[in-house]
Amino acid sequence: MAITAIKGCNDILPEESGRWQYIEQAARRIFERNGFSEIRVPIMEKTELFCRSIGDTSDIVEKEMYTFTDKGDNSVTLRPEGTAGVMRAYIEHKMHAQDPLAKLYYLGPMFRYERPQKGRYRQFHQIGAEVTGVTDPLVDAQVLNMLCAFFHEIGLDEPTLQINSLGCPDCRPTYRAALMEFLQGRLDRLCDDCKRRFTVNPLRTLDCKSAGCAEATKGAPAMLEHLCTACDDHFSSVKRYLDLTGSRYSINPRMVRGLDYYTRTTFELVTGLLGAQSAVAAGGRYDGLISQLGGPSIPGIGFAMGVERVALLLGERDFSRRPDLFIATMGAGQRDKAFCLLTELQNRGNRVEMDYEGKSLKSQMRRADKLRARFSVVIGENELATGRASFKRMEDGVQNEAALEADDIVTLLA
Ligand SMILES: [Zn+2]
Ligand SMILES: [Zn+2]
Repeated sequence: MAITAIKGCNDILPEESGRWQYIEQAARRIFERNGFSEIRVPIMEKTELFCRSIGDTSDIVEKEMYTFTDKGDNSVTLRPEGTAGVMRAYIEHKMHAQDPLAKLYYLGPMFRYERPQKGRYRQFHQIGAEVTGVTDPLVDAQVLNMLCAFFHEIGLDEPTLQINSLGCPDCRPTYRAALMEFLQGRLDRLCDDCKRRFTVNPLRTLDCKSAGCAEATKGAPAMLEHLCTACDDHFSSVKRYLDLTGSRYSINPRMVRGLDYYTRTTFELVTGLLGAQSAVAAGGRYDGLISQLGGPSIPGIGFAMGVERVALLLGERDFSRRPDLFIATMGAGQRDKAFCLLTELQNRGNRVEMDYEGKSLKSQMRRADKLRARFSVVIGENELATGRASFKRMEDGVQNEAALEADDIVTLLA
């Protein structure tokens, strides 16, 4: 029996990889325009890193991590998200010593042991960005605008931006207490998950998908009404900067994030195109995370988006790559010329194909069609002798004569 891939881990086949590259290239373009540089960190980290950053009581750490003991008896974990590793690297390499301000982005696979279902995989991919060293709300607005610019760049205007503030260690405890008091009398109406969350992370009851919990938490106090003056000012400024740059957003006072380290600005890009309203990108400010990981007290903000979901949103668009030219030959006598032209044109940046197996002209042309080459040319004895050939534009059959010289052909293909 042939060996298959691990459940929940997907191959991205050639017909799909063009779509992925399109997404990745757009992200790189937009992020680098905003002054971000790529950081590549390991896929595997010490387990402790995620316990300390994401929080021991989170669903991710409790149930979903790929954790195992390696041959040296160390507990290691396949990263379930990107921020922790990036911040670990930021601290470890003392990037803050030269300049606390760093603008970093990453892309790559993440791993969570979840029940595989459509759009949820055990190996999934994220593109994320982080900014450290700035509390100024202007940077929050820039990060949000950058995320929206990315979706605009790939031709999607649908995911809409929702924002909220989760306060800070000064004002959140008061809010948490007010929320717990509100929930106290409604505990029996909450789902089992939320009953458990009530003591560890009561805020999570607000974004529970269960209808009973949505009903039971109707009228619950909102964090936004409990922000301290500093957090309130910060949130107002974020909104002002977004307004100033004409960005569209809505405020979702029930948005909380699953990870414990978020403070102040939190946000999601939400779409209804993938079934129920769901987030394709999410993030927020994490002013306490770097010190929590043993670094200096430096603020940060960032987001991650799910590449599988973005790929789905792009729908039926065709991302396959087409050859610029297919060179066919009448017989073996023209193959040397065809191969030289192929090599030369490829070196000059064109995507060129030819037949490898001495097939009939008919079968070569079938292949040119199948590959959807933009142009084709047939080289026979006559073409070889005169040094000229007719180049057929495949979409409308129009023929253009040109010399069998790379210079002329490059111009014709342009
Ligand atoms: Zn506050
Ligand atoms: Zn619930």
